Amino acid sequence: MPAPFYVTTCVMAAETIMHTGALRINESGRLDMKIGVIRCMQTEDMCPGTSDYKAIQNRTGAFEGVEEPIEIIGHINCGGCPGKKALLRAKMLAGRGADTIAFASCIGKGNPIGYPCPFHKKWIEIIKKELPEIRYLDYTH
Ligand code: SF4
Repeated sequence: MPAPFYVTTCVMAAETIMHTGALRINESGRLDMKIGVIRCMQTEDMCPGTSDYKAIQNRTGAFEGVEEPIEIIGHINCGGCPGKKALLRAKMLAGRGADTIAFASCIGKGNPIGYPCPFHKKWIEIIKKELPEIRYLDYTH
């Protein structure tokens, strides 16, 4: 039985993959993207992340234009307010093989209730500084 979160599409030759949409694709020649998603803990009671998975599967939102296969390494919350655990969680995703981290739209856009995280700018800044080798998406859908 296939892994439930592994999404496969056609694979283009690395040299033909270009910068498209919100992402720079395969700048290191990889043919797949290994993504970890960090979401807001406060919204888990009202959202199971369905729109994130749909955006990945349908190549919409931040994933528009991605031609390569996407493997979801993990989908994890920030650890709760005020986001001090988020760096540990980002490191865990990277340690499990994620080369891209997406901050779900519940964080920066405030989906689904229109209430963006009041702390996210700081903890995202810290993550990006501590893990400079990772590609980042500031939203999902
Ligand atoms: S720190 Fe921000 S993203 Fe994390 S639970 Fe609190 S409001 Fe949500």
